[in-house]
Amino acid sequence: MEDLPRIAPLLLRQTNPEYRGDRTRAVQVRGACFGGERPTVIAGPCAVESYEQTLTVARAVQKAGADALRGGAYKPRTSPHDFQGIGLEGLHILRAASDETGLPVVTEVMDTRLVEQVAEFADMLQVGSRNMQNYPLLAEVGRAHKPVLLKRGMAAGLCEWLGSAEYIAQQGNLNIVLCERGIKAFPSGEYSRYVLDLNVIPALRSLSFLPVIVDPSHSTGVASMVEPASRAALEFGSHGLIIEVAEEAERGCDAAQAIDAQTLLRIVKFARAHWTPVEVHEAAARA
Ligand code: PEP
Ligand code: MN
Repeated sequence: MEDLPRIAPLLLRQTNPEYRGDRTRAVQVRGACFGGERPTVIAGPCAVESYEQTLTVARAVQKAGADALRGGAYKPRTSPHDFQGIGLEGLHILRAASDETGLPVVTEVMDTRLVEQVAEFADMLQVGSRNMQNYPLLAEVGRAHKPVLLKRGMAAGLCEWLGSAEYIAQQGNLNIVLCERGIKAFPSGEYSRYVLDLNVIPALRSLSFLPVIVDPSHSTGVASMVEPASRAALEFGSHGLIIEVAEEAERGCDAAQAIDAQTLLRIVKFARAHWTPVEVHEAAARA
């Protein structure tokens, strides 16, 4: 942590005099505001599979009160034999879903050559866990001047994560939202997909002015854990959530962790009613 002022001077309260105060620097993504008065919920399918599937889920999450729509057109998959996303067609579908529901679109970009294309359709560019340390991609994404959702590398510490965010900030783009999505640790894969590091939320909030949200879907990998993980994340001061929702929970990409719209509605209600951001974590503030 001693190295942090050298690694991420643009993003620390301690080193960026413009953002020394208590308040988080809010990131506006059309109608959705991250780091504002209330938590922000991004929801939608893991992957854009078809027009009907995406529109059905988009309408359902909008009705449940989500602030933004997620969905991958380009998917990072462990096996090259698995579904890789439908690419440009998927981006067109996301745009259509956004036009109908009014929800801003958050979608992943994995390739420097496709940043311009994805930025044409997306309201917020997602950099996934596997690409958190893809420095040329981070710089290219920074130059697109769109808000960025930077997911934590599954084996990255806080310094490495903020260092990656600094690559984006260095291009003159401070509209960055950090997303904790679970890390690889001793029990990963035993009873949950990853280990959700809730402790990083207050640590980040005290060190940096960037908003931080949590992905309870990929971090747990288990649908029944998504709702309690969401509540816990909010109790720890998360500025929002990104959640996978499916029309039929047993089908499709990452089906085991997808929740239905009913469950999403309960999470949104909880987020609206119970959010009490934690005080700046003193130990983290001293670090
Ligand atoms: C996703 O959000 O679609 C995703 C693949 O997440 P992660 O990069 O966190 O694995
Ligand atoms: Mn997924």
